[in-house]
Amino acid sequence: MIELRGVYHSYDGEEVLRDINLTVKEGERVVLLGINGSGKTTLLKILNALILPQRGAYTYCGVRVDKSKLKDRDFVRSFRKEMVMLFQNPDVMLFNPTVYDELAFSLRQLGFEEKQVEERVLHWADRFDLIEHLDKPPFKLSGGQKQKLCLACLLVLEPKILLLDEPTANLDPRTTGWLIDLLYDLNITTIVSTHNLSLVPELGDRLVVLGEEHSIVYDGKIETFLRDEEKMLKAGLLHKHRHKHGDREHAHYHFHL
Ligand code: ADP
Repeated sequence: MIELRGVYHSYDGEEVLRDINLTVKEGERVVLLGINGSGKTTLLKILNALILPQRGAYTYCGVRVDKSKLKDRDFVRSFRKEMVMLFQNPDVMLFNPTVYDELAFSLRQLGFEEKQVEERVLHWADRFDLIEHLDKPPFKLSGGQKQKLCLACLLVLEPKILLLDEPTANLDPRTTGWLIDLLYDLNITTIVSTHNLSLVPELGDRLVVLGEEHSIVYDGKIETFLRDEEKMLKAGLLHKHRHKHGDREHAHYHFHL
């Protein structure tokens, strides 16, 4: 479904992704782990075709995503419907007068009939406990409700692939629990980035780790990684501290979060 081959990216000469090879198949639930600045957001933006890789190839469902493909309106239209991305702090993007209009916005943009718009808006508002708020301006919602609204605004499109950039970073524990359950129930391909090691097992079942050197240092089962101190050290997620106690030297590990 998704394939990156030898992808590199840099900003102002500073490399932030190095030789990224990644294949994601339909239905996979991938967690993208890496410390701040390792390149997670950039990688998600490349997958969402918001930026093009400077080197290497991105193929989506057999189609090479490049400059000329992004000028193909039919391709872009179906791509934007099939793959959606939740940004960090997405609530800054809420701008419609009511929650209803916010949920309806992208469907209307994409030319859905008003009957279908209503059907989908009501379905997702109900699923996300937003029905009683439909007539309110989005800024009147609580922080957790705004986060739910942002995600609902994407899911109304009924996408095939959902990309989430550090979705739990600003969530209270209750909304975090809600999101974890939702991701489990959604049954679509998801790629979720996080720098929070403790949440990794909750967010998916395949782990891809971006190391401090901006390349993929691990791709596989979550449990295997969490048992491998060397790999965690290499990803900069763990720091080793040595200290002497009498004649003996001890090593301690600290999580870098
Ligand atoms: P992460 O999501 O893992 O924190 P990012 O992809 O956001 O990583 O950033 C990787 C590096 O690229 C960071 O050092 C960041 O400061 C830098 N960076 C991100 N976006 C830009 C940009 N638009 N211009 C310049 N530097 C950027």
